[in-house]
Amino acid sequence: MSIHLENIAKHYGRGGQHQALAPLDLDIRQGELIGLLGPSGSGKTTLLRIIAGLEAPDRQPKGRILFGERDVTHLHVRDRRIGFVFQHYALFRHMTVYDNVAFGLTVMPRRQRPPGSEIRARVHRLLEMVQLEQLANRYPAQLSGGQQQRVSLARSLALRPDVLLLDEPFGALDAKVRQELRRWLRHLHDELNFTSVFVTHDQEEALELSDRVVVMSDGRIEQIDTPEALYRAPSNRFVFEFLGDVNQLEGEVRDGVLTCGDARLDVELPDGPRNLLLRPHEVALEAEPSEAAHLPVSVTAISPVGAEVRVELAADWLPGPWLATVRHADFERLALTRGQRLFAHPRHWHRFTAASHSECHATAPMAG
Ligand code: ADP
Ligand code: MG
Repeated sequence: MSIHLENIAKHYGRGGQHQALAPLDLDIRQGELIGLLGPSGSGKTTLLRIIAGLEAPDRQPKGRILFGERDVTHLHVRDRRIGFVFQHYALFRHMTVYDNVAFGLTVMPRRQRPPGSEIRARVHRLLEMVQLEQLANRYPAQLSGGQQQRVSLARSLALRPDVLLLDEPFGALDAKVRQELRRWLRHLHDELNFTSVFVTHDQEEALELSDRVVVMSDGRIEQIDTPEALYRAPSNRFVFEFLGDVNQLEGEVRDGVLTCGDARLDVELPDGPRNLLLRPHEVALEAEPSEAAHLPVSVTAISPVGAEVRVELAADWLPGPWLATVRHADFERLALTRGQRLFAHPRHWHRFTAASHSECHATAPMAG
């Protein structure tokens, strides 16, 4: 089911003085898995609840919500054919796993309710899909957090919703279980072919799971794009900073050279104060400076866990610590240790013109 939002806004509070959503438009295609990503308070939950019909959008401007061709703007939540998963599992504690999943079906009005044999078949199929068949007779208290959330997923799918809405569904779980549940969601989504919208403040989760990500801040949509496009071509500094670690290089450009304290970098930029941004993988480390880059740094911390080594760097001319990710081979070649002095070499950098200007913070190198 495709979803079309047009001119949807939301104010809260007496007299509606608090704007939670500025008027926005959003188109979600049939079968897409969309991540709503943004910091706390950016309006993600509000947007999700409006799609669900749990919250009404402002009357002015006059907005519209379409599910496919159907105008659902004034439709009650129970008539929108939506499944929900929330952060807190909200399972019925006095019911078994089986009964939790079957619940939505068993309480349907008699005329719409499928026959008992079909309910049983459907519930078993769902439990099989989330691999909880063996635990069908357990109670929620006898399950781990990850298992409970799989029951929630199965329960929300029992009514065959057109649209599945998830609000920070994995937020309360530890990192490893969260990884696993992402794969579950992706798998169920692809197999059952519904449209999903999930809220997260975790950029890694959004980038890994979504077909497209909607980046929000302050009640507005900053950018809508595929994970690759977002990462490669962020449309503004907010998006760039929100999507990953950022190193800043501030300095004064004159005649094609940016300087800050004893640091120097050739850049093709007009004269004036400049603020460059680099991702950790865009910072190479070498024992020597080059013609184009003289950026002395010292190593303050090393974390060799993972596919790459994370190296924290400091220098007088830097406004804050830098993070560089280097390959294990380079880590060994350079024999990196804490306190070591070496040189940073930017492979690539970014600049956003709307950024506020800040000065070079370096103190002059001490004499002697
Ligand atoms: P997010 O899910 O991105 O953290 P929310 O949609 O929950 O953001 O909130 C957006 C803004 O609206 C926040 O400033 C929040 O305080 C406010 N807000 C959310 N729900 C209500 C409510 N029921 N009453 C008043 N203000 C609310
Ligand atoms: Mg929220």
